[in-house]
Amino acid sequence: MPTFDYVRPDDVAGAVALVSGDPRASYLAGGTTHLDLLLKDRVIETDRVVDIGRLPLRGVSSDDGVLHVGALTTMEELAADPVVIERLPVVREALLLSASTQLRNMATIGGNILQRTRCRYFRDATVAACNKRAPGSGCAAVTGPARMHAILGADEHCIAVHASDLCVSLVALDADVHIQGTGGRRTVPLTGFHIRPGDRPDIENVLGHGEIITEVDVPLLPVGTRSGYLKVRDRASYEFALTSAAAALRVEDGVVAEARLALGGVGTVPWRAREAEEILTGAPVDDGTFRAAAEAAVRDPFTVPGTEFKVELAKRTVVRILQTVSGVRS
Ligand code: FAD
Ligand code: SF4
Repeated sequence: MPTFDYVRPDDVAGAVALVSGDPRASYLAGGTTHLDLLLKDRVIETDRVVDIGRLPLRGVSSDDGVLHVGALTTMEELAADPVVIERLPVVREALLLSASTQLRNMATIGGNILQRTRCRYFRDATVAACNKRAPGSGCAAVTGPARMHAILGADEHCIAVHASDLCVSLVALDADVHIQGTGGRRTVPLTGFHIRPGDRPDIENVLGHGEIITEVDVPLLPVGTRSGYLKVRDRASYEFALTSAAAALRVEDGVVAEARLALGGVGTVPWRAREAEEILTGAPVDDGTFRAAAEAAVRDPFTVPGTEFKVELAKRTVVRILQTVSGVRS
């Protein structure tokens, strides 16, 4: 059994100091994925676990058209927030299609953003070739059986999916991540928070060691915008996405006035589909427009044997969510 110190500070600065001062220290929030990797799969190591559960980072509020979400707010709490229910259905649907009720009652928003990949090779310590776990060792998924893997933002170094559903909705909405470290506070757009693997799959996001996520800000959708999240998976509940899509559309007189679109289950990072948004904006609400947007959203995929099916599935996922959100199909 791995051994480590366990500490539970009361203030954010204290927590940051405890992790920043020890290169082998790590944060623990709800523990739904960190403890698996540490104690069960044993693919990460730490000598000090800093439990942030007592920090004053839990709760949801809104002002001036922005939802402020404390990093320790649970997924279930965010899904039940009245403003989310009324103004951000895409966020609520992404949350409620994630994991299980029990997990969502423990799992936090900060932890969801920072969850590690579900790539089976990454989580199997007996597999030697994993550039994310052991830089320079290769990628077992590119040459071995692959299915739940990425086709966008991927290459021969790593095809691991970023598995968060919530993040797909949040990148579509241009959410901001507030971060605190020993050097002070900063804010990073979620679209720039996660880093595509390239030749350093071990570097997953812009956080420096010891920096903590304190809050996520989500701009509310304008009144009259319809939004939704579609998740395609092997079984109807308690399963990660094969493909997913988050969409928000404001339609005026049969024409798309404003469009937001992001894809999940297919990207090495939560995938914002900006080219597709440009095609949608100003175009008539019909299947021709939606298919053109879908083609643009899944442009230049990188596939390996086992993941080719995701190309067409992702396009159909995009078309279907756009049909649903626009009211062309219920
Ligand atoms: P922890 O496990 O405590 O931490 C996760 C990581 O984030 C750790 O590295 C930790 O150090 C770091 N961390 C946590 N909070 C902070 C912070 N504020 N600042 C800096 N670092 C921090 N997710 C989905 O989106 N969709 C699904 O369908 C889904 N299904 C799941 C099914 C199962 C069986 C499991 C176990 C998980 C599933 N998940 C799914 C993932 C789940 O949502 C995450 O495990 C959860 O959100 C992580 O939150 P946590 O608070 O438990 O994080
Ligand atoms: Fe490791 Fe990424 Fe390859 Fe999975 S896809 S084995 S995480 S390098």
